[in-house]
Amino acid sequence: MSQFDLTGRVALVTGGNRGIGLAIANGLGGSGASIMIGARDRAKADAAMEELSGRGINARFTPLDVTDQDQCTAAVEVTVSAFGRIDILANNAGITVRKQPEEFTLEEWNRVIATNLTGGFLCTQAAFPHMKAQGGGKIINVGSMHSIFGASHTAAYAASKGGIVQLTKTIAVAWAKHNIQVNAILPGYIESELLEKARAQVDDLEERVFGRTPAGRFGTPDELAGAVTFLASDASNFVTGSSVVIDGGYSVMG
Ligand code: NDP
Repeated sequence: MSQFDLTGRVALVTGGNRGIGLAIANGLGGSGASIMIGARDRAKADAAMEELSGRGINARFTPLDVTDQDQCTAAVEVTVSAFGRIDILANNAGITVRKQPEEFTLEEWNRVIATNLTGGFLCTQAAFPHMKAQGGGKIINVGSMHSIFGASHTAAYAASKGGIVQLTKTIAVAWAKHNIQVNAILPGYIESELLEKARAQVDDLEERVFGRTPAGRFGTPDELAGAVTFLASDASNFVTGSSVVIDGGYSVMG
C-alpha cells in the first residue's frame, strides 16, 4: 500500500467550501480520506459538496465559525460522530484586512487574529483528545508568505500567520509523544477569492509578485494539495514542526 494512501482516514478541513480549503479537501479525499468541511457560507458549501461527491469523495459539511470555541468543539464532535474518528485536521480558514497599521480598529485586529490564529488553536485543542485516544493524528496549519515577510498593509494578517508557524512548532513538540505530527504549509500567492480582493486593493500586485517569483506566475489551489496529502499521510511520520514553503520560488529569490 502506498505511504500516501489515506483510505480509512478522516479529515476535518476548516474553510473547505472554496479556494485552497476545497483543493485540500479534494486532495485528501482523492487519496481516500473521508472529508468533513467546516465553514460559514452554506451556498458555497453546497457547491463544494457537489464537487466532492461528483469525484466520488465521501464528504459532509458542518456549519463552522472558527472564532467560536463551542463551534470548533462541535465541528470535531460532528466529524467523529459522522465518520467514527478524526485523523487529520487542516486549519485553513483565514481572512485578511488590508490597511496601514495605524488605521486598524481593535475589532479588525481581533477578527483577523481570532480567525487565522486562535481559530486554528481552538480546533486543534478540540481534536487532541480524539487523536490521543486513537494513537496519533496529523495537524496541518496554513501559513503564508506573510509568516516570513513584512508588508505595510498586513499587520494583523502577518502577525497571525507568523504566529501559526510558532504555534505549529510548540504543538509539534508537545504532542510528539502522542504520535501527533503538526506541520504548516506556507503558500505563495495562490489564485482564490482572497487573492482577487488583494488584486483589487494592492497596486501592481501582479507585477510585483511575478517580478520576484522565479516561476513567473501565481499558483493554483490544487498545487498545494500534494504537500498537504504528504503531511496528512504516513509518508510524513517523522516530519513534525516544519513549515513547507510552496511558492514557485518567491521566498528564495535574491
Ligand atoms: P478564500 O477567501 O477563498 O477562502 C477563505 C476560507 O476561509 C473560506 O472557506 C471561508 O469560508 C473560510 N473562513 C473565513 N472565516 C472563517 C470563519 N470565521 N470560520 C470558518 N471558516 C472561515 O481564501 P483562500 O482559499 O485563498 O485562503 C485559504 C487559506 O489560505 C487562508 O488561511 C489564507 O490566509 C491562506 N493563504 C492564501 C493565499 C493566497 O494567495 N490565496 C496565500 C497564502 C495563504 P466562509 O467564509 O464560508 O466561512
